[in-house]
Amino acid sequence: MDNINREQVKPKRKLYIPRMSYSASRAMAAAFKSIGIDAYPSPQSDARTLELGAKYLSGDECLPEKVTLGNFLKIVEDDNFDPEHTAFLMPTAGGPCRFGQYKPLFAKILRDKGYPNARIVSPTSSDGYEGFGENVQELLRTGWDAVIASDILRKLHLQIRPYAHEREQANALFQDSLNEVCEAIAEPGISSKIKLQNIRTALERARAKYLKLPADFAQQKPLIGIVGEIYCRLNEFSNDYLVNKIEEHGGEVWMTDIAEWTWYTNDEQRLRLIRAGKRFSLDMLKAKIKWYIQHKDEHFLMHPFIGEFEGYEEPSDVREVLGYSRPYLPQEGALGEMVLNVGKSIYLQKKGADGIIDISPFSCMNGIVCEVVYPQVSRDYDNFPIRIFYFDGTQTDLDRDVGIFMEMVRTYQKRKKHQRVVPHYFHK
Ligand code: SF4
Repeated sequence: MDNINREQVKPKRKLYIPRMSYSASRAMAAAFKSIGIDAYPSPQSDARTLELGAKYLSGDECLPEKVTLGNFLKIVEDDNFDPEHTAFLMPTAGGPCRFGQYKPLFAKILRDKGYPNARIVSPTSSDGYEGFGENVQELLRTGWDAVIASDILRKLHLQIRPYAHEREQANALFQDSLNEVCEAIAEPGISSKIKLQNIRTALERARAKYLKLPADFAQQKPLIGIVGEIYCRLNEFSNDYLVNKIEEHGGEVWMTDIAEWTWYTNDEQRLRLIRAGKRFSLDMLKAKIKWYIQHKDEHFLMHPFIGEFEGYEEPSDVREVLGYSRPYLPQEGALGEMVLNVGKSIYLQKKGADGIIDISPFSCMNGIVCEVVYPQVSRDYDNFPIRIFYFDGTQTDLDRDVGIFMEMVRTYQKRKKHQRVVPHYFHK
């Protein structure tokens, strides 16, 4: 139950992908399809997800682990489950984060249940992703383009939906647009250049439709920046559909994207190579070529949205975010999401956001450290409202808590010293 090569996945097995973000998991499944792997997002999370998670886990795990494994267990417990024809994508990592435990724990559960033949696909950069066979470079590039495309679509959707006359019309448009983008990603047998152009064309079509959506931009809504643990902030079930609640309370959300984590890990790789005396090495050259291609593709896909993302620009370099975090959590001493969350909160305040919510799974170290730091950050930045919301899969009165937070946000919005820049559609 280790790495698996492409021939083992294809064509016999269905590959299930964790549904961290709905749009990104759909786009990643399309990327796998483009190299002939039959891939799908894992099922939607629900009460059964938590029930199965609780049945097989000890209770000490974080919510993302419970939800990820609970969703996979829904597949395993299905009457039609066929271990010989199923594989689960489960990336892994070292370090103290529980993420490294997901794979061994799930492997044990599968063994204990008598399914040693079900595969866990665990791609890793340490072996150059060779487990995916000869198409690995194509998959890595298409996968990256899929992440960027889904980030762009989510960003556009969250900017426009709060102002749409019909919320459901915006949601339907999101689904249609995502389908078109995924079709472009999944097309097999074409060059990276043509695929990238097709993805951009699908995104441009989505943009044109969003701009025609009946909407009212007369009044700017309070803008809430969302930072936090990557799974919990992007998986709506895990954060109890927090974005919907913010919008119901009259707010607009700027969600931190997935690409940020890649830029951060690239920068960490750069520092590791420098510390190892490899500033001028083949490894550094290879890394720089990869980063160059990633930036080039991102720029190409983002370019048509310059007007729509005016005032909502993502940082051009993750080191800007890390720089904001430095007085509170220097990158060299505090690794991981906590550094990004503090730095991005400040970045968003400077862009004119009216408040920050940090979404954290209960008991995750990132949220605990950030909670200690945020009061000082808030004091240093004009008593800007920042609040952590913890999630453990149990019910809380989130609606009440969001309502209270939005009152603080509105007060700040009225007294803040600089107004935010807004895109062209606000000036219609
Ligand atoms: S960052 Fe925290 S919540 Fe996320 S997997 Fe690691 S321990 Fe769990």
